[in-house]
Amino acid sequence: MNRITLSLLALCAVFQACSSKKPADLLVTNARVYTADSSFSTANAFVIKDGKFLAVGAADILAKDYDPVTTLDLKGAPVYPGFYDPHAHFLGLGQVLDQADLVGASSYDEVIARLQTFQREHPDNTWLIGRGWDQNDWSDKTFPTKEKLDAAFPNAPVALTRVDGHALLVNSKALRLGQVTAGSRVAGGEVLLQNGEPTGVLVDNAMQLVKRILPRPTLADKARMLKNAEKACVALGLTTVSDAGISPDEINLIDSLHRTKQLKIRDYAMVSLGEPNLDYFLKRGPFQTERLTVRSFKLYADGALGSRGACLRQPYTDRSETKGFLLLSSDELARVTKLLYASNFQANTHCIGDSANHLMLDLYGKLLGGKNDRRWRIEHAQIVSPNDFQLFNRYSIIPSVQPTHATSDMYWAGDRLGPVRVKSAYAFRDLMRQNGLVAFGSDFPVEAPNPLFGFHAAVARQDAKNFPAGGYQMENAVDRKSALLAMTRWAAYANFEDQLRGSIAPGKQADFVVLDRDIMTVPNKKLRDTKVHQTWIGGERVH
Ligand SMILES: [Zn+2]
Repeated sequence: MNRITLSLLALCAVFQACSSKKPADLLVTNARVYTADSSFSTANAFVIKDGKFLAVGAADILAKDYDPVTTLDLKGAPVYPGFYDPHAHFLGLGQVLDQADLVGASSYDEVIARLQTFQREHPDNTWLIGRGWDQNDWSDKTFPTKEKLDAAFPNAPVALTRVDGHALLVNSKALRLGQVTAGSRVAGGEVLLQNGEPTGVLVDNAMQLVKRILPRPTLADKARMLKNAEKACVALGLTTVSDAGISPDEINLIDSLHRTKQLKIRDYAMVSLGEPNLDYFLKRGPFQTERLTVRSFKLYADGALGSRGACLRQPYTDRSETKGFLLLSSDELARVTKLLYASNFQANTHCIGDSANHLMLDLYGKLLGGKNDRRWRIEHAQIVSPNDFQLFNRYSIIPSVQPTHATSDMYWAGDRLGPVRVKSAYAFRDLMRQNGLVAFGSDFPVEAPNPLFGFHAAVARQDAKNFPAGGYQMENAVDRKSALLAMTRWAAYANFEDQLRGSIAPGKQADFVVLDRDIMTVPNKKLRDTKVHQTWIGGERVH
């Protein structure tokens, strides 16, 4: 053979190799991939095409089989399925982000400085709205007065909610707009006075004098808030949020933002209960787009433990005259769940107290009858009577819980419940064992949206200060593998999305995150500082 034949043969070989390779958009190599599949396997590479995982496995094999447009070398970084928050308030986070954050300001001057920065960053806001000031953090611990606000902001109305939500600090412009005078009287509230003039502090119900005139967010405002919320979420590795109670208007807004590609994050919308919403969606039926799923309703059985609104079977330990209360009558809850059972919608009911949990498990059980695939959920499942845990198993009911609630409430939950009842509160491991799964969310903005705070709280049962040493009620800690599944594949299951995503497997939508450390192996103390290097939704990098 002469030289020309040889090179022709070589060229042929190259062409053959090329033609036998399958096209792909992206090859991710040199990663430590936690697939979260049924055998919890790991891999070091995967291939993506058209927004979905095409193949997962060893880098050398995939490189032989696929011809990617782009290759991404992750230099050994750990990769996980995109994180879920299965119980959150997405617009609520956007609303909070639209206000100046005054938490931790160490002086009134710092409050003013933060507001000035905020005003520069939000030049279109007519009102300056902030939250989180606490004069107990300042050297002068008496309530602030309006003068400093007036000097800094003579023209823009200002309204600043105190850290506990029970007082509002406003400037003179806001007082004028709210027509608040020394003579204003409000039942259950107080306009604080000094030298016969309002000081600018409105307490409890008197806050409404100004709050009622705050601008109602327009559709454009809400769109901006949703986009801000998305930015915060994807920076934390969240790729799907389950919206625990939203209106048809908000659902339509999210849908339109998805369609115009202004919003990328996936949303599992739980429709807020209410007669018009119920009528509208029961007629329309469940629907799903690539990014939005509407097939569930959010019900509230009771309130919160902190304010003693949780409905308990026995009186509160620290207030024996009350057991809390239901927000809807048991007849009404029975009527609504029956309607939902007859439709294809999922019922997701907020239950904090053991009485609320008992009632809903019983109502669900009567309709569900036994094992089933309706995936009805109890949101929070916070205090469950020991005998009631088995009902989650008997009726295939999914507990959707918030690990950071345990570590936020642990300081006073025992006061409310006493030493016996508190033992079956925040019992995430006992709940998980009923059906072999649990969903972990944050309930943001009630808690911080960072899913790894929840991961840490679930495995270490400690808060950000690593308190308490040794963990809180450790018998209900979960292992890391379960904690990861609870914010990926199990959370997807709770949304009927486990066939679509929640794991890194061929055919699933390519949602994944790249972290700066391996959360399956680093010490507990290092979990909360984890940084998210990259977030991808449907094969597109969004952070
Ligand atoms: Zn909630």
